[in-house]
Amino acid sequence: MPPNTPRSQLKRKLSNAFNTISSPQRSNSGSSSTSSSSIYNLVRPTTTLALIIGASWLSILTRYSGNNSELKPSINNMAQQTTVTQQHYLREKEEPKLDDPFAIEYDNCIIGAGLSGSVIAEQYATKFGQTSLIIEKRNHIGGNVYDYIDDETGIRCSLYGAHLFHTRHERVWEYVQQFADWIPYEHSVVGNVNGKIVPIPVTIDTVNTLFDLNIQSTQEMDEWLKNEQVQFKDEDGNTREPVNSEEVALTRVGQRLYDLIFKPYTYKQWAKYPAELGPEVLSRIPVRNNHDGRYFSDPHQALPKDGYTPIFEKMLNSPKITVLTNTDFFAVRDRLKCKRIYYSGQIDTYYADLGWPKLEYRSLSFERVVQKETKGYYQEAFVVNHPQATDVNGKDVDYTRIVEYKHLLNQTSDSTVYFIERSKDGGEPYYPVPNQENKDLYRRYQEMAEKEEGVTFVGRLANYKYFNMDDAILNALELFDKDTKDMTVSKSSR
Ligand code: FAD
Repeated sequence: MPPNTPRSQLKRKLSNAFNTISSPQRSNSGSSSTSSSSIYNLVRPTTTLALIIGASWLSILTRYSGNNSELKPSINNMAQQTTVTQQHYLREKEEPKLDDPFAIEYDNCIIGAGLSGSVIAEQYATKFGQTSLIIEKRNHIGGNVYDYIDDETGIRCSLYGAHLFHTRHERVWEYVQQFADWIPYEHSVVGNVNGKIVPIPVTIDTVNTLFDLNIQSTQEMDEWLKNEQVQFKDEDGNTREPVNSEEVALTRVGQRLYDLIFKPYTYKQWAKYPAELGPEVLSRIPVRNNHDGRYFSDPHQALPKDGYTPIFEKMLNSPKITVLTNTDFFAVRDRLKCKRIYYSGQIDTYYADLGWPKLEYRSLSFERVVQKETKGYYQEAFVVNHPQATDVNGKDVDYTRIVEYKHLLNQTSDSTVYFIERSKDGGEPYYPVPNQENKDLYRRYQEMAEKEEGVTFVGRLANYKYFNMDDAILNALELFDKDTKDMTVSKSSR
């Protein structure tokens, strides 16, 4: 087909639209302005194709694109047509006008379009035909699981750090099958320790490489570990439980591996030494007495073939669900009309008026590096950990790991992009800081939440707990079950 026929123009526009939709949106975190908010109902790719024929695809773009300034020029050019095509989306009489999402009462107002909020909205729509308004302060759906196609390299990357799906919960595994084709993927991580690349978790190969040994069997490895492991005794000379993370690590791997890997890595991650952290932080250090270098041992380990963001698009693709991005709940809560609220934001922010201390979080920064003309890879594995404070030449290594997404999903590109991860205070709340003070403070917030009528606190931020994706899904499904146990199924459910 010649390049400039109307159909090829349309094709190009479509491809631009998808590229734009999937552009990185790095400056979005915490943005909250109702004046620039975007409201949309999501449309499945197949539906999208049908809409192209009806020339309605422009509205998908504008609804999806939020207020990303990079996208504005193209949106402005299309403004006139967009007004017309928006009409197409007023699918049901009860749906609000696009510029007034607060005009009608919703069954549920859901704060946060991450996994927790999306599961709740999807379940209400599917099982009971109930309406939900999702309020999301960022300019995209998906919460921390959001991924996108990198503009420069065409490689799918995660905006908030590498996400690997793994679960032992059959219910969760069955649930996620509805929204994607999944490719089996068993994650393994390597670490750069003393200039050598070794498997992490610690396996026979890690020990052989680091200490120049030739351990062959699980029995030999058990023996080696036993000689390394430290035991702690109480005043009566009896073995006692470890009281902090240093003691946990020493009981599991001994002094040498602790000093080489776990002590420096923990300090980089938390800005605290393991001795200053509760035992739970390092209590799950995986140590293997075999050659199994897999990072997770769950029976289901996979990646969604087309990435994570399309899963959210599919989950939220319902006339019963309306998503309002770029909007902070606290800026609009007085205007909301809803029978019930699901809140997946930070619990201490919800109770900010109390003036209590804030719960502490550790955050991450991601330095993006593009390496042009690289048909292969920058590094040997998807994730390479850098546990030590300095490299073999004594040079400071202030990052914890480097992630190169090209290794996933059989992606090819003439370039590669990798992200250097550093741990920091402030910024996006990623990891709850596990010390007694925070645990006690969270308990006080939790007591308030339990008394709150008409509000369900859901997800990792509201629970002040590190949830894997499967934990977040299970938590949301179980809360939904609990809240709806007396409801009868509506005929209008889809
Ligand atoms: P979130 O994804 O945080 O969603 C909450 C949403 O609420 C956010 O979008 C936020 O913007 C919004 N919000 C908050 N406050 C407001 C407000 N006032 N108004 C409006 N909106 C608001 N899990 C795995 O299983 N495998 C992994 O490999 C993995 N890797 C991870 C790597 C990193 C670096 C991190 C931090 C997490 C990782 N996780 C992983 C965990 C995974 O990200 C979580 O399980 C998941 O994001 C939890 O979903 P959620 O909806 O509870 O929270």
